[in-house]
Amino acid sequence: MSLTSVQKLQQPIEFLKGVGPLRADLLKKELGIFTYEDLLNYFPFRHIDRTRVSPISELKQEEDFAQVAGVVLQAEVIGQRASKRLVVQFKDKTGIMELTWFKGINWIQKSVQPGQSYLVFGRLSFFNGRPQFVHPEIERVEASQSLEKNYLEPVYSTTEKLKARGLGGRQLAKLSFSLFSQLTPHSIPEIFPENLLQTLQLMGRFDAYQQIHFPQTATQATMAIKRLKFEELFIAQVRMQLVRAKRHHQSAGVIFEKVGDYFNQFYSSCLPFELTGAQKRVVKEIRTDTAKGRQMNRLLQGDVGSGKTIVALLAMLLAVDNGFQACLMAPTEILVQQHYASIRSLLATMDITVAVLTGSTKTAERKKILAALEEGSLSLLVGTHALIEETVQFKKLGLVVIDEQHRFGVAQRARLWEKATVPPHILVMTATPIPRTLAMTAYGELDYSVIDELPPGRKPIQTVHRYEKDRSRVMEFIRSEVAKGRQVYIIYPLIEESAKLDYENLMKGYEEVKAFFPEPNYWISMVHGRQPAVQKETNMQRFVSGDTQIMVATTVIEVGVNVPNASVMLIESAEKFGLSQLHQLRGRVGRGAEKSYCVLLTPPTIGKEARERMKIMTQTSSGFEIAEKDLLLRGPGEIEGTRQSGALNFRLADIMQDRSLLETASQQVTQLLDKDPTLVSPENQPLRLYLQQQKTNVNWSKIS
Ligand code: ADP
Ligand code: MG
Repeated sequence: MSLTSVQKLQQPIEFLKGVGPLRADLLKKELGIFTYEDLLNYFPFRHIDRTRVSPISELKQEEDFAQVAGVVLQAEVIGQRASKRLVVQFKDKTGIMELTWFKGINWIQKSVQPGQSYLVFGRLSFFNGRPQFVHPEIERVEASQSLEKNYLEPVYSTTEKLKARGLGGRQLAKLSFSLFSQLTPHSIPEIFPENLLQTLQLMGRFDAYQQIHFPQTATQATMAIKRLKFEELFIAQVRMQLVRAKRHHQSAGVIFEKVGDYFNQFYSSCLPFELTGAQKRVVKEIRTDTAKGRQMNRLLQGDVGSGKTIVALLAMLLAVDNGFQACLMAPTEILVQQHYASIRSLLATMDITVAVLTGSTKTAERKKILAALEEGSLSLLVGTHALIEETVQFKKLGLVVIDEQHRFGVAQRARLWEKATVPPHILVMTATPIPRTLAMTAYGELDYSVIDELPPGRKPIQTVHRYEKDRSRVMEFIRSEVAKGRQVYIIYPLIEESAKLDYENLMKGYEEVKAFFPEPNYWISMVHGRQPAVQKETNMQRFVSGDTQIMVATTVIEVGVNVPNASVMLIESAEKFGLSQLHQLRGRVGRGAEKSYCVLLTPPTIGKEARERMKIMTQTSSGFEIAEKDLLLRGPGEIEGTRQSGALNFRLADIMQDRSLLETASQQVTQLLDKDPTLVSPENQPLRLYLQQQKTNVNWSKIS
């Protein structure tokens, strides 16, 4: 690659013929086009076929746009005021049609001369069965001139300000065209090795750029788009995988070299059930990863109820087997207490020390725990983010498990690592399934495990959408379930910003529920974020133990709580919840042997998107499927935790629509880096060079 060709694309846009300083300024401000390269990457959003000139007699209703060539017979202004228009009779050898303008009448009238030849292009419409164009593009031609172009014409989006400066869609096309007249294949050198192009039948790089702007045929345009999408995805994957490889290479990690007595004893005599295949696989992945001498940084995805806790516990036992301490961090007090209780009972017969630390731990207890941690006599610690406070010092921390549920930030995670000279292994568990494609692009530098299988014997949860008018029937249904001895959740939305109003709704709802289910036949628990931790805990506990049959709550119970006897989840104002939250809430029921129900209650009229969400919820129970739908509905920018991820800002590719292309790109990158991890082989030089240039290409004209 010659330097000059690279420099060419770096040239400021004002140097391009037809641009100049004023237009350049607007191109920068309006479209972010600073250089030739930016213009090259400003892709048309569609093409129109001007390769064909149609005979007027053959114009058909189905055609969207059409182009005709002929002679103007007459032009006359008719109508008054709003209906004033210029009507032109236009004729070719086969027939006559009308061209109509409502605006710019004077100007058009001057330029349209009867008896002269024109090429006319526009959106075709029919009036009384006759074809007509309204506001077509019209261009004077010599009768003898060859009219057909040999490429499809690009249509670029533009802005009002640009149009006012003579940079409408067609003018942008002219700029593009003029840019291409200066470029040669050397200006846009290939970056992929030949065999990759061959295997995947990808169009070459220069051709792809040319054909995405000025394709010869629609097929060529499709091929060009495919190549450029692939390139985007491929480059993003290379970057991500290089970062991951570097981390694997450079990060020292504590070594869990053996599976010892704790793990084995637990596995053979304390495990209350057979692990699912997916759980076994993930345990093995963690086992392999933690033995390698580099830090594990693993994201564990698993739908609600897929059994992540037991996997975390096994990993923690592995740490203890190797002389390390381990901790499990969860986002809420309730969840922490539940983890603590279940870990304690699972480990009841084993000689291992476990403690719990939260904001509400009493000072004396806290002191004892901190001392035991520092001295190393405490092996396992469960807690809220109280765990990452300065005062909490481990003697030998080997593993941190974070039951994230999307509530901890990356920064908090980083603080935990700093607690040891050699960083502990990290296992982040999330119950909001992320579609594979999103995980690959947003978290590609993490190691990744999935539990994609639920424990056997789960009964599907029947989900229905009901309206306000059905409320009394819904309540009757709840009564009948309670009569059978089951328990019920009733959830109200609580969105922090409008907490006051939501809080009032919750209280009103609570009173209504109480009126319908009066004491002493019924007992109700209420849990919400404004209660002191102790009160929350007591109310929760009464529901867990079955003292109360109904739990009225906000989404504080969303995470993790486990009450197998609960068979109904009623969600009030369900339209206010996002898909993943609804799915999380639903996951609170269906944990026992009984058939369970989820009722989504909404006002009679809800928005289109909300209706779509309700429909998806009633149709599927797979968290992964729901996550994919969510991604389709909202786009990746809206998915929590991915907002800042620049990796998702693709120009052309769409990680959902193009997921198979993404898979292919990822596989190809893996293969390529397996063979040539540092990109030293000759055929990978262009790629290497490109990556370096992309990194160092500081565009000075953009910094002002
Ligand atoms: P989550 O992945 O949502 O954190 P949990 O770890 O809380 O799920 O597990 C949900 C329930 O499933 C718990 O009651 C747990 O004991 C049970 N469980 C987990 N794994 C299995 C299994 N392999 N077979 C049967 N039950 C299981
Ligand atoms: Mg859990």
